Amino acid sequence: MGRAFVYVILGGGVSAGYAALEFVRRGVSHGELCIISNESVAPYERPALSKGYLLPEGVELVLGTGVKSADVKRKTLLTTTGETISYKFLIIATGARALKLEEFGVNGSDAENVCYLRDISDANRLVNAIQSSPGGNAVVIGGGYIGMECAASLVINKINVTMVFPEAHCMARLLTPKIASYYEEYYKSRGVKFIKGTVLSSFDFDSNGKVTDVTLRDGTKLSVDMVVVGIGIRPNTGLFEGQLTLEKGGIKVNGMFQSSNSSVYAIGDVAAFPVKAFGEKRRLEHVDSARKSAKHAVSSIMEPDKTGEFDYIPFFYSRVFTLSWQFYGDNAGEVVYYGDLSASGSTFGAYWVNKGHVVGAFLEGGTREEYEAIAKTTTLRPAVEDLTELERQGLGFAVAV
Ligand code: FAD
Ligand code: NAD
Repeated sequence: MGRAFVYVILGGGVSAGYAALEFVRRGVSHGELCIISNESVAPYERPALSKGYLLPEGVELVLGTGVKSADVKRKTLLTTTGETISYKFLIIATGARALKLEEFGVNGSDAENVCYLRDISDANRLVNAIQSSPGGNAVVIGGGYIGMECAASLVINKINVTMVFPEAHCMARLLTPKIASYYEEYYKSRGVKFIKGTVLSSFDFDSNGKVTDVTLRDGTKLSVDMVVVGIGIRPNTGLFEGQLTLEKGGIKVNGMFQSSNSSVYAIGDVAAFPVKAFGEKRRLEHVDSARKSAKHAVSSIMEPDKTGEFDYIPFFYSRVFTLSWQFYGDNAGEVVYYGDLSASGSTFGAYWVNKGHVVGAFLEGGTREEYEAIAKTTTLRPAVEDLTELERQGLGFAVAV
C-alpha cells in the first residue's frame, strides 16, 4: 500500500502548519501536499496551546500516524499503519520531545499528577491536575521557559509553588544573574519559593500510584499534590541519523533550509541553520524561527531562483503575570544594563556588546515602538566605543538608531 505526493511535511506542529499555509498561499493542487503527524489534531499554535488550528484547505492530512522509518535515498516514509508515502520534496518538521525524568535517573513520569508540557494532550493533563489540587502544593522541576511560565499559571490558579533547578538562577541559558534576580524577586512576591543548586532525587507514591512527596538531592523533602517538569528538550532527529548530517543536536541545513540531501529540508526546532550575523549555525527553540524558517523553506522549494539565503535575527519573548519581555540577537559579550532593575513593574533592559558592536538586546515592559527599536538595533549592530555612554543613553540609544 502506498501513496505519492510532491510535497510531504513530516510533523504536525507549528512549523508544519506555517509551511502548509505558505504552500497553499503560493498555490498547490489538491493531492500534491501531505502532512503526516503523530498528533491526532491538525497543526496548532503551540505557545498558546489554543486549539486555533493552522490547517489550510486542500492538504492531505494523515493524523494520529507516526512515521517509523525514512529512506532518503528512495524518498519514502513508512508509517506506523504500514503505509509507504513517497515524496519529491520532504520537509522535516518533527520538532522536539520533552526530556523525561527517567533520563536523569528518576522514575515516576507516568504518575497522573506528574505533568510535562509539549502538546495538547499534555496541556489537558496539566489542567486536570490543577483542577484536582485546589489550594494544593506543586513542585516545578526546571527553571527554564516551561518552569517559569507554568509556575506563574499555577500561582494564578491559587496553587502553592516551589521551583527546583540545578543552576544558581532561573532562565540560565538566556538571562544574566542580575536580570534573573529581578524575575525571581517578583515571583517571590507572588509567593513562589525557590530551591536552587539541586535536583530531584526521588518520588514517594501512594497506593494509587500518585506522587505524594518529592525528595531532592540536597535532602529536602516536599509534600506535593502535583509536579510539573520542564527540564529541556531533544530534537526529534532519530529517523534521519546516519542518513543526513547532524549538527548542534539537530539536522544541519544551509541558508535555504536544505539538508545534506537536496530533496530534504528541515525547519523549526529540529533544524540547525546558519545565522549570518553570528557566522555560525544555531538551532533555535522558539516560535518566531519556526514560523519564518517554514516560510523560507517553502519559498526555497517552490521558487529557488528567487529565494536568497535566510537572514534572521533570533527573537524570543515571554509573558507571565503582568510581566512581558522580548529579546533579540545574541547574549554574547559584555552586558550593559539600563532602567531600574530593583522595582517591580518597571521598564528595564540590557544590551550585549561583542567586539565593539551591539549584538543583543533585552527589554522588560516596553512599548511596541520600543521593542521595534531594540529589534532594529540588533539587526543593524551599531558600533559602540563607550559602554558608559551606552549605559547613560539606555533605551534612548535604541530609539535613536
Ligand atoms: P513542534 O511544534 O513540536 O511540532 C513537531 C511535530 O512533529 C508534532 O506535531 C509531533 O507530534 C510531530 N512528530 C514528531 N516526530 C514524528 C514522527 N516520527 N511521525 C509523525 N509526527 C512526528 N516559543 C516562543 O518563541 N514563545 C513562546 O511563548 C513559546 N511558548 C511555548 C509554550 C509551550 C507550552 C511549548 C511546548 C513551546 C513553546 N514555545 C514558545 C516553543 C515553540 O512552540 C516551538 O519552538 C515550536 O513549536 C517549534 O515548532 P516545530 O514545528 O519545530 O515543532
Ligand atoms: P529550557 O531549556 O528552557 O530549560 C530547561 C531547564 O531544565 C533548565 O533551566 C534547568 O533549570 C533545568 N534542568 C536541567 N537539568 C535538570 C535536572 N536534572 N533536574 C532539574 N532541572 C533540570 O527547557 P524547558 O523549560 O523544558 O522548555 C522546553 C522548550 O519549550 C524549550 O525549547 C523552550 O524554548 C520552549 N518554550 C519556549 C517558551 C518561550 O519562548 N516563551 C515558552 C515555553 C516553552
